[in-house]
Amino acid sequence: MHALTPTGLLKVWEQGEGQHPIDRALTLLAVACPEKNLSDLAHLNIGQRDTLLFRFRQLNFGSRMDSYAECPKCGAELESSMDIEKLLSSQTSADAGERSAAFDGFVIRYHLPNSIDLAECFKSGIPSSLSLLENCVSGVTGEVESKSVRELPQEVTSSLVSLMSEQDPFSDVKISMQCNQCGHQFSALLDILSFVWKELTQKVGRLLQEVYILAVNFGWSERDILSMNSSRRKIYLDMVA
Ligand SMILES: [Zn+2]
Repeated sequence: MHALTPTGLLKVWEQGEGQHPIDRALTLLAVACPEKNLSDLAHLNIGQRDTLLFRFRQLNFGSRMDSYAECPKCGAELESSMDIEKLLSSQTSADAGERSAAFDGFVIRYHLPNSIDLAECFKSGIPSSLSLLENCVSGVTGEVESKSVRELPQEVTSSLVSLMSEQDPFSDVKISMQCNQCGHQFSALLDILSFVWKELTQKVGRLLQEVYILAVNFGWSERDILSMNSSRRKIYLDMVA
């Protein structure tokens, strides 16, 4: 993976802007990781994908992430800060291979959800944990005969969903927070894709504003302006400020 140039950031934003978030994540990673093909990226489980998205964020926008949440008890606006390097070194991401688990006499073969499974779920209508399981489970052997996911008792499917989430902790990164107003402790979900996309959109807005100012004042093309490094662009921007 490598950091993107201003032109690269603009291109990837343009490509992903109209896409569903599942495709948008793959678009970002395909541009940032030219050494990986799209099919390999699509088969990464969500924890592996999100680990790469954290790396993308670190390379392009830095390791420190400031996020905001509302205290669910008193409504106070809270700020928290975390370090991507620390987060990534605290957990190992799960591999994407086939696994098996036994619950109540059923042996279930499955893999952890990847982008293809998520996309299939959305295609078939309103996504549910059951439709996700149908995509991730490759076989169920019962005490008597094999069964489909929908024939399994609800306790079994719930246990499997919990196990999959435990086995892929990076698919669901939560930040522990404590309210400085009322002392309430809670955990807030950190959706790295939305986080990165919001930052990328802001960055693109700033870049295009710089292009506009320099093009109007000096008559240069967008390509020429974006090919300058940020320090050089800043000197020209200061001249016309
Ligand atoms: Zn509070």
